[in-house]
Amino acid sequence: MTPPPTKEQLAQLDAEDPLKWTRDEFEIPDARASGAKVDGKAIYFCGNSLGLLSKKAREHVLEELDTWSTSAVFGHFNHKYQRPWKYVDRPLTPHLARLVGAKESEVSHSATLTGNIHNLFTTFYKPTQKRWKIVIEKGAFPSDWYAIYSHPNLHSDVLSPEQIKDAIIPLSPREGEETLRTEDILDVLDKNGDEIAIVWLPLIQYYTGQLFDAPTLSKKTHDIGALFGLDMAHGVGNVKVELDKWNVDFAVWCTYKYLNSGPGAVGGFFIRDGLQDNNRRLAGWWGNDEKSRFEMKAEFEPTPGAKGYQHSCTNVLGSIPLLATLDIIDKAGFDNLRAKAIRLTGTLESLLRASKYYTDKEPSPNDNKAGFRILTPEAPWRGTQLSLEIHPRREGIMPRVFERMLDAGLVGDERKPYVIRLSPVVLYNTFTEVGKAVEILNAALAAEDEELAKGN
Ligand SMILES: *Cc1c(COP(=O)(O)O)cnc(C)c1O
Repeated sequence: MTPPPTKEQLAQLDAEDPLKWTRDEFEIPDARASGAKVDGKAIYFCGNSLGLLSKKAREHVLEELDTWSTSAVFGHFNHKYQRPWKYVDRPLTPHLARLVGAKESEVSHSATLTGNIHNLFTTFYKPTQKRWKIVIEKGAFPSDWYAIYSHPNLHSDVLSPEQIKDAIIPLSPREGEETLRTEDILDVLDKNGDEIAIVWLPLIQYYTGQLFDAPTLSKKTHDIGALFGLDMAHGVGNVKVELDKWNVDFAVWCTYKYLNSGPGAVGGFFIRDGLQDNNRRLAGWWGNDEKSRFEMKAEFEPTPGAKGYQHSCTNVLGSIPLLATLDIIDKAGFDNLRAKAIRLTGTLESLLRASKYYTDKEPSPNDNKAGFRILTPEAPWRGTQLSLEIHPRREGIMPRVFERMLDAGLVGDERKPYVIRLSPVVLYNTFTEVGKAVEILNAALAAEDEELAKGN
């Protein structure tokens, strides 16, 4: 690893960065408003949880309010800013399709992530006596785990109580390891091949930041005759996604993380062209073909492709901020942004590894020194986020360190019991901030060392 950059070098990286203009497109929160005890702007490394507001998104939302105020119901058809609500997804779909490496017909912009999991699982999880199991990580994001765990129960007409009990195959890392090895997942697929109906994995794991090897896992899943589904909550807008090339069957995402669409904003899903639903679609009027949607007929005529699986009219206020971010991504070029993101996270990693608090070892339970290790795999098996496990690995230590970081104006997020996630987001974070973030972490750990020495 090359030596970590100095402050001057970081400032120079920012000054010479051809993509530095994107930061000016965003509203960066004040540190004090984020609970800090210092002035100035927050160092916001939490875009993996909720992306920041862009200036254009603010404008667009005000335009929607304006249209609502002046045109009311006519805004569906006749929109002052040429974005009739009836077709609010139209300007979004081509961008989204590009971003996930899919055809426009395969992408739907609707509902929310967990709702979309239920939608797709109701349709595509069709267990039989012989093939009924679902593979998912034991450490999956709770919403995914709860949602998927609930589905075998709906099939007690086909499955015995024992089969329902055995329906979930949970994947866990090896003893003493934090991330799953591809070879171990492949092994599970081999061993349970003809019983597996669906393999459901994240593209990027929310806790560890691990990027999964989707093409390899997808291929194996198809070799054993199962369907391959992806949760891209932490993947979309973060890493390069090629759903068609990877042969993914279906996928879901949210847009409020790396795509900055605002809290609780609309989600999206992908269904591969040609994937058979065996007449198990959950229908709604917004899935009906546009041409006859407003004829209010009793017969459902689905829109071809993924949009035929939508239910409700699109959430406009939760959609339109997305247009702003997608426009910025298009202007900057996703590949350029990704190349910079790799440098930004690589810089964070090199500064962290140079910290005197860094260790690559698992802590022993009676350790009494403050420190951290990085749980996230090395490049290329990650996105933007690095997950730090704070030591000593005892309850209560990490939150103290996290509080001190917030006090100093660094907004990451805590994932109990031991992890702090830091995500320098390419659209609005800088190399200088990366340097400051590591200084703040080091100071927070130095203070922790003092507390520990006092027996606290
Ligand atoms: C953020 C996230 C969610 C959130 O689900 P919502 O339905 O949008 O509340 C679900 N799964 C994963 C993996 C996530 O990272």
